[in-house]
Amino acid sequence: MKVVIAFLVFTFSLLAFDITKVELPTHKVKNGKSLFIEFLEQKGIEYKSVKVAKKSFQIFDNPIETRKKYVIIPFSYYEKPENKTLNIKYIEDKKIKYETLLVKVIDGKYEKEEIQVSKEKVNPQGKELKARISKEYNEAMKIYNTVSPSSYIQTPFIMPLKSKITSAFGKARTYNGSLKGYHSGTDFRAKVGTPIIAANDARVVLVKDRFYSGGTVLLDHGEGIYTCYFHMSKFDVKKGDLVKKGECLGLSGKSGRVTGPHLHFSARINGVQVDPLQLISLINNNLLKGKKE
Ligand SMILES: [Zn+2]
Repeated sequence: MKVVIAFLVFTFSLLAFDITKVELPTHKVKNGKSLFIEFLEQKGIEYKSVKVAKKSFQIFDNPIETRKKYVIIPFSYYEKPENKTLNIKYIEDKKIKYETLLVKVIDGKYEKEEIQVSKEKVNPQGKELKARISKEYNEAMKIYNTVSPSSYIQTPFIMPLKSKITSAFGKARTYNGSLKGYHSGTDFRAKVGTPIIAANDARVVLVKDRFYSGGTVLLDHGEGIYTCYFHMSKFDVKKGDLVKKGECLGLSGKSGRVTGPHLHFSARINGVQVDPLQLISLINNNLLKGKKE
């Protein structure tokens, strides 16, 4: 009898979820940054999603090695430093089960920056203008919150242009001494008319002149990953186009809320705005590890 019980316990432990098959490169993440988690194959286990607070993030196949799965979890700039519980949802024996992981959000300690822009870009006046701003915001959020089920990316991301970074992501900004915000992307030096290229394969989901971001192109790379190109002066693509990495999207400019000509490059994952360069290096060095540009 003892032998039978021992055998059953042994078999049961073999079938149980093995947390060592979930690879978390770090347990600490700064606000405004993303976290990459890899899931190795486990017999009888179907990985589904990871839930953090009320938000659920779908676990996808690695686009190159389909036996591996991944999830990228974004932590908003406004996340407070605290411990977060990640609930991994999986299916075993047709039953939904959960396993937890702990991650600590730490303070990104971003620098401060004072910006001077035209008054109307800080305090927009008039009903019509306010309606335009809110329409543009809602339209963009609807796009960002759409998770396209398959990935367009096969090879690592590249920069949208080769130039000097003039302002990093995350700087705590004060506009004209009053309005407070944070720098939601990375600024590259670009005189008006500099070609801007797609950072990776994607579908063009928005091409528009907007109040704050000026000439705007939004790219959907699939599986919840978006890159954004702001303040452009000319477009070479249109909504619905499929673009290849390196393809020209248009020319840089100084449209929208700017202090001068530059490219503002930003990224969203699962609706959350994150440091675009950190997201790109996270994807290139983990998800697409070993793949050439
Ligand atoms: Zn910017």
